[in-house]
Amino acid sequence: MKLALTPALKRSHWMETAEPSLHIPAALQGAHQVDVAIIGGGFVGLWTALTLKQHEPDIRVAILEQDVCGGGASGRNGGFVMSWWPKISSLTSFCDKEQALFLGQSAERAIYELGEFCQQHKIDAHFQQNGWLWTATSPEHIDSWQGTLDACARLGVAPFERLSASEVARRTGSKTHLAGVLERSNATVQPAALVRGMRKVALAAGVEIHENSGVTHIEAGNPVQLSTASGRISAANVVLATNAWSAALPELAKLIVPVNSSIVVTEPIAQRLEQMGWTGAEAITDSQMMVDYYRTTRDGRIAFGKGTGVISYGAKITPKFSDDPYSIALTEADLRRTYPMLDDKAVTHSWSGPIDRTYDSLPVFGHLRGHENIHYGIGWSGNGVGPSRLGGRILASLALGRKDEWSQCALVGRQCKKFPAEPMRYLGGSLVRHAVLRKERAEMAGRKAAPLDRMLAKLAPAGLEDKS
Ligand SMILES: Cc1cc2nc3c(=O)[nH]c(=O)nc-3n(C[C@H](O)[C@H](O)[C@H](O)COP(=O)(O)OP(=O)(O)OC[C@H]3O[C@@H](n4cnc5c(N)ncnc54)[C@H](O)[C@@H]3O)c2cc1C
Repeated sequence: MKLALTPALKRSHWMETAEPSLHIPAALQGAHQVDVAIIGGGFVGLWTALTLKQHEPDIRVAILEQDVCGGGASGRNGGFVMSWWPKISSLTSFCDKEQALFLGQSAERAIYELGEFCQQHKIDAHFQQNGWLWTATSPEHIDSWQGTLDACARLGVAPFERLSASEVARRTGSKTHLAGVLERSNATVQPAALVRGMRKVALAAGVEIHENSGVTHIEAGNPVQLSTASGRISAANVVLATNAWSAALPELAKLIVPVNSSIVVTEPIAQRLEQMGWTGAEAITDSQMMVDYYRTTRDGRIAFGKGTGVISYGAKITPKFSDDPYSIALTEADLRRTYPMLDDKAVTHSWSGPIDRTYDSLPVFGHLRGHENIHYGIGWSGNGVGPSRLGGRILASLALGRKDEWSQCALVGRQCKKFPAEPMRYLGGSLVRHAVLRKERAEMAGRKAAPLDRMLAKLAPAGLEDKS
């Protein structure tokens, strides 16, 4: 099996500030043997490695990363640490009540555990647990959360609080926000500081980390043989923690579509944030399918992101997944629309990244067909910072052959709706994406979207939240 090597070209502002003199280590040389080889040095790969070492301290674990740990989505995301409560309707569509509660509560607990992990290992990842505001910025979007709140109530949980319209406008610092709910448990982090901190913890735990060592070829068997440009690793078990890059394997390409998400960052504006009233460090999203997500930073900037949904032919991770001027312009336009009072303030940084979107926007775990020692955990769909900790537990249990609540949870081996093959995948995906864009532009301008656009938009995969 061949994998495609396409490390990101442009670093995020997060990475530039967390690692101002980022060193790219020498590549793997020669032949090595390990018990578990993990391909991908993001949150999923690192949590898997750390959990493996927790279970079996003497096990030999290696991470192979084409770039540096955090070079992918983990070092370039919005830093929202979310639960799976906004996806509870999707979860209950394939889980029984007990399992949906287990996954929902575990994902919420993972947020607290992340704070504890940072404290325990003295990682200054700017962890702040000040909640997430799910808002409406168009009359059409008011109460988008109602179905989610109802689904939570049916399970006997109430993670969301309703806020008055004036409270939402006050907390967000902009009257563009018309309504909203708050999920208090959610947090924010500086994601690159977190992933680089996790790398250090993993090294200290004895995990071998080979950066600058992309895997070009997987030879299935027992053991599995992995090839890089100048080295080879044989491993009893392999974990694919390759996020959107997993689409290089046809079997996994059916499960996910790589979509662009982009972020712009303003110059420091601490005083203005205070004048506007956005001082609570909440994470905020609107209710668009091409979701806007924004938060403040420790040095008083706004980091404003948008799931622009741009796709590529053949699901290839092209340069537009690290720096796409078109997506960045869409993102800045939404920043300006949401915070028009900041028009005099400059955007100083921008970048893009790949999201591995499944149809229902929940991840899927399993092993490659016919190869029970090659495991995967993909499809984080824009919510991987918090849940990747659970992903690490699931993948570690799968790699060790443990029969436990993680390896047997409902996300493992679940039936997912498949994406079509090319050229339908790209042509159909682009058609639907443009319809969603036109529909949401109309809604944001207070107009009714065209019926055809509304109809086509219904074919889009689920978003970050399940909306009514
Ligand atoms: C712009 C953006 C904003 C986001 N915002 C948020 C957010 O606010 N909150 C949230 O929860 N989630 C967010 N996400 C999603 C989140 O970042 C991911 O779900 C999470 O980081 C997934 O971790 P990962 O380890 O699977 O992926 P990654 O961090 O991408 O790790 C995969 C790694 O595999 C490596 N790799 C690929 N192929 C090979 C190969 N052949 N050999 C060796 N290495 C290989 C890549 O270089 C990469 O480093 C966002 C994503 C993006 C792009």
